Amino acid sequence: MRFLRRLPALAAAALLACTGLAATPAAAQDTGAAAAPGFKAPFPCGQRWTYSHHSAEVRRALDFVRSDGGATAGAPVLASAAGTATRHSQPSGAGNYVSVDHGGGWTTYYFHLAAFSVPSGASVAQGQQIGTTGSTGNSSGAHIHYEQLLNGVGQNIVIDGAALPYPGSYHQAHLTSTNGCGGGGGTPFDTWGSGVNVRADARLNAPVVTTLAGPTAVRVVCQKQGDTVNAEGYTNNWWSKLRDQNGFVSNIYISHPDAKLPGVPNC
Ligand SMILES: [Zn+2]
Repeated sequence: MRFLRRLPALAAAALLACTGLAATPAAAQDTGAAAAPGFKAPFPCGQRWTYSHHSAEVRRALDFVRSDGGATAGAPVLASAAGTATRHSQPSGAGNYVSVDHGGGWTTYYFHLAAFSVPSGASVAQGQQIGTTGSTGNSSGAHIHYEQLLNGVGQNIVIDGAALPYPGSYHQAHLTSTNGCGGGGGTPFDTWGSGVNVRADARLNAPVVTTLAGPTAVRVVCQKQGDTVNAEGYTNNWWSKLRDQNGFVSNIYISHPDAKLPGVPNC
């Protein structure tokens, strides 16, 4: 076993060397954390913003301003993935800002907000407005200072599955948002078990709208408390609303250890 276990480590080292990723802090590579959430732009669907990274910047942030003719100041700031939002205030630095904990060690930051749109501790969906763009704190003008962190370490920002470049000035790189464009919505989970009923409401006597024959990839749009279900050795009264099946399933059948799913808003 010992000999076999050495092989993946050597392969990983070789990969890091030839992709140039060795400069990334080791902690960010060695966590074994789950894959990053499917992050989307921190501003509304269809808007085009330009971004840059300046040398005095903290961590691996990018600063965004609009480049589609619309006003940057006051533009909605959106959660780039589902999670739990927390308000912060740092008048001499980040200003009013929100952090969103996405689970799995992943957190995003949104600095210099003019106003908050959610209470601290709120569960937010991907694309939900969490604030408005401003220039509070140490800021020379309205912009969104945005970061993606894994276990507190700033990561190179990935949006819609693509790593963004880090230009030193604006108007070299642009990003058009797909956040909240519709068709999306909900947080991906997998179900387990077979013959799992999806019901019209979070009640055991609600009509069955469909049955999941086996493990199924689903998108959960919200959750609420309903009838207590005892099944498979578990007891739980939380139910998830499934986007594509348009009905509720007991959280017992969602593959997640928590009775109430993290990062999913209440219905
Ligand atoms: Zn910044």
